[in-house]
Amino acid sequence: MKEILVAGGGIGGLAAALALALKGRRVRVLEKAAEFGEIGYGIQMGPNVSRMLERLGVLEAIEAHAFFPEALIFADALDNTEITRIAVGKFFRERYGYRYFVVHRRDLHGEILAACRRQEGIALETSRGVADFEQRGDAVLVRCEGGQEYEGAALVGADGLRSVVRQAVIGDGAPRVAGHYVYRGVVPMDEIAERSRADAMTIWGGPDLHMVQYRLRGGTVMNNVATIVSKRFRRGEKDAGAPDELQETFARADPHVRELLKYVSRERNWVLHDREPVTNWSKGRVTLLGDAAHPTLQYLAQGAQMAIEDAVVLAEKVASHDFAEAFLAYQRERMNRTARVVLSSRVFGEVLHADGGARELRNDYCRARNPDQCPEVDWLYRGI
Ligand SMILES: Cc1cc2nc3c(=O)[nH]c(=O)nc-3n(C[C@H](O)[C@H](O)[C@H](O)COP(=O)(O)OP(=O)(O)OC[C@H]3O[C@@H](n4cnc5c(N)ncnc54)[C@H](O)[C@@H]3O)c2cc1C
Repeated sequence: MKEILVAGGGIGGLAAALALALKGRRVRVLEKAAEFGEIGYGIQMGPNVSRMLERLGVLEAIEAHAFFPEALIFADALDNTEITRIAVGKFFRERYGYRYFVVHRRDLHGEILAACRRQEGIALETSRGVADFEQRGDAVLVRCEGGQEYEGAALVGADGLRSVVRQAVIGDGAPRVAGHYVYRGVVPMDEIAERSRADAMTIWGGPDLHMVQYRLRGGTVMNNVATIVSKRFRRGEKDAGAPDELQETFARADPHVRELLKYVSRERNWVLHDREPVTNWSKGRVTLLGDAAHPTLQYLAQGAQMAIEDAVVLAEKVASHDFAEAFLAYQRERMNRTARVVLSSRVFGEVLHADGGARELRNDYCRARNPDQCPEVDWLYRGI
């Protein structure tokens, strides 16, 4: 049996390679970058993904790097008051079977990569940007930017937000730019002055802004993320999301929240994107996975988790069907759940960034919540 080709060696592509290899398939990962890697910031992992990581045999290794917050706290950025919390320890273990954790992206990606390297059936290649492909009977011929060619039994496009494979399968052009700009920074704990909520994952929401803080690497460093919804972007102006707009937008925040901006680097920012959910992301022996299939805004913190869930479901379907059928069965199972993440993330973003009456309504609703329940995301955390 020919090997399965996977375009992209991010979290999604590597998880797919591992899941397929664990089902006895030979896999070749073609990664465009010169090295496998991830950016140096944190990522949140809900209980839904822990079950998947356990099935992939990597949960324990990843948890060894993780930080387990005692609660997810939501605070109002305008006055720094706590509005609500979700107690993610005992309650999560009892209801969902797993805790909520946060982890450095490089530790997460690195452990999945290490597990792939331990699988004889996985070949890992870098500097192999997939340029195009052709389906020929029972094979897919993939051509890389450097001219290399590979023949595989199937192709999984896990090549991210600007997926080349997606353009051949769906052809819907560039992703939607949301105009939300993100600044990040990781600093040692001894540089963090105010630590009263340091054992939690805290999110401060405010008009067109929010700030997130949580610890990483066994609690030794603090991950800081500041996001603004850019007015300049809405007006079509230049310099949307630039550092001075970050500062301007946070001018309304409580001084303590504004102070946290010193922990984020101004050297680089990320603009958020997503896409409208689609009803078909497979064509014959080619399918998509992760951000290539259903990129989402960050407001449920689930993009990578959806990619990992995709990987597990994909491998299960491939184990029991031929490729074209397996890919249709896979996308059928994943379509509504991932669409719900994409669409709910937009709504969560609006609620988080509310002002005026909408802010009052949000805060009243949230204050009445029971910290030992989370009906808003129960469907998500119960998992698959
Ligand atoms: C600010 C922010 C915060 C986030 N927080 C969270 C969070 O807390 N929890 C969570 O689950 N998710 C979070 N996400 C989402 C998460 O980062 C992504 O959904 C996830 O990384 C997608 O993984 P992927 O493997 O599908 O794509 P990518 O990580 O984009 O990987 C794609 C890979 O393909 C390679 N590639 C690209 N083109 C080609 C090509 N032509 N040929 C071969 N290789 C190619 C790239 O080099 C890359 O290695 C966040 C996103 C943002 C922006």
